[in-house]
Amino acid sequence: MTKTAESVWSDCLSFIQDNIQPQAYKTWFEPIKAVKLTDNALSIQVPSKFFYEWLEEHYVKVLKVALTKELGENARLVYIIKMENTYGNKQPFTEKIPSSNRSNVKAQEVDVPLKNKSPELKNPFVIPGIRNVKIESQLNPSYNFENFLEGDANRLARSAGLAVANKPGGTSFNPLLIFGGVGLGKTHLAHAIGVEIKDKYPEKTVLYISAEKFTQQYIESVKKNNRNDFIHFYQIVDVLIIDDVQFLSGKTGTQDVFFHIFNHLHQNGKQVILTSDKAPVDMQDIEQRLLSRFKWGLSAELQKPDFETRVSILRNMLYRDGVEMPDDIVEYVAKNIKTNVRELEGAIISLIAQSSFNKKEVTLDLAKQIVEKFVKNTKREVSIDYIQKVVSDYFQMDVATLQSKTRKRHIVQARQLAMFFAKKFTKASLASIGSQIGKRDHATVLHACKTVDNLTATDKQFRKYVEDLSKKLSL
Ligand code: ADP
Ligand code: MG
Repeated sequence: MTKTAESVWSDCLSFIQDNIQPQAYKTWFEPIKAVKLTDNALSIQVPSKFFYEWLEEHYVKVLKVALTKELGENARLVYIIKMENTYGNKQPFTEKIPSSNRSNVKAQEVDVPLKNKSPELKNPFVIPGIRNVKIESQLNPSYNFENFLEGDANRLARSAGLAVANKPGGTSFNPLLIFGGVGLGKTHLAHAIGVEIKDKYPEKTVLYISAEKFTQQYIESVKKNNRNDFIHFYQIVDVLIIDDVQFLSGKTGTQDVFFHIFNHLHQNGKQVILTSDKAPVDMQDIEQRLLSRFKWGLSAELQKPDFETRVSILRNMLYRDGVEMPDDIVEYVAKNIKTNVRELEGAIISLIAQSSFNKKEVTLDLAKQIVEKFVKNTKREVSIDYIQKVVSDYFQMDVATLQSKTRKRHIVQARQLAMFFAKKFTKASLASIGSQIGKRDHATVLHACKTVDNLTATDKQFRKYVEDLSKKLSL
């Protein structure tokens, strides 16, 4: 029987299903469609870039094993990413667009050479105490210095990054902490440093990990009783990059273990690179001794890029993807999307996609429509302070009252609602929410969230509160 994309994928799926949690299977594998099979490359369509990144981060191993079983050692996987639906167009952005527009598709196809990934070690616990084991650095080579465009807003961070890359562990920038708001390039720059080090010093062990994954691994190691192996694993790297350390807030166990790893690396002249969405002074629920370590090196901020830099970033993207676009349009997009590079990229991709679906020329009018919809559709990040303010205003009390220790019913309810929305709209941990809303503990926040859920289901008046507040907070 000849193999088809569907048959190969369906065989892969049965293998994957046997090897991962049912919920994970449902969430991450059921929505995938097999699209094409050529030689040893299977193309699958995934709903979004995020989806692709998630698969790559969490399931690359099982995918590799499954695919190799089906297609042999040289198996390759090509992701085709459906356009993210930011402007109400239901059609997928796949290869099916007219061939004259083919060049536009490039950016959406991600070809993953599974082969290079396999021989390296992914799981920190496989180390049998041998030193010359190869550690997979988890770096994304497409995040490099070359395509990290320079501007006033990132000059310090970028140059510090380059300095560190030239002499890892040998500058006073240790640790190097890169901080700044969402979508301003922290992850990109962190990878770029790692990629550059690997390039200059191939023998050095570089490891990139998100603070979230680091935490998961740590918890896992405690469960499995191999906390020492975990620590040992991290202590043998030459360059440790931890992304989004704000995630460690409130997690004392993980902070503790990180503190020991950090000290060990630092004492041995190894480089540590961290990113965070806040400056050390603004970090909540991070132990003092850890914060003081962060301040040993350099904290460099990534700020919002200025207009010129935004234009260069867009031009660079278009150039890379081989798409031509008139200057006035590029400038229009750059002028109107100011706060976040990721949104800037999203808008231009939408624009390219929109014009290729409808075979429309990219006009200023089209750009206006898209930018408008795009900006409207983007969720604003809300802070816990802002949530407390909106909830207090709604119930006509001040924030201090909302946070107070009183047990008066309407105040308790307001406080619980603030906790509930903080959980829903921010990435803060239960502990951190509790400490910011009247110094409560995580159990109180958990209880608040459950109470709000229950009351929403049973009490009509209460449901109205939730609806009104949801509207106010997502405006
Ligand atoms: P953060 O980690 O700060 O949320 P990312 O590193 O994920 O942000 O960046 C968001 C997107 O913006 C990425 O696709 C990244 O490549 C791009 N980007 C950010 N800054 C720059 C820059 N200076 N030059 C080119 N691309 C950039
Ligand atoms: Mg990031």
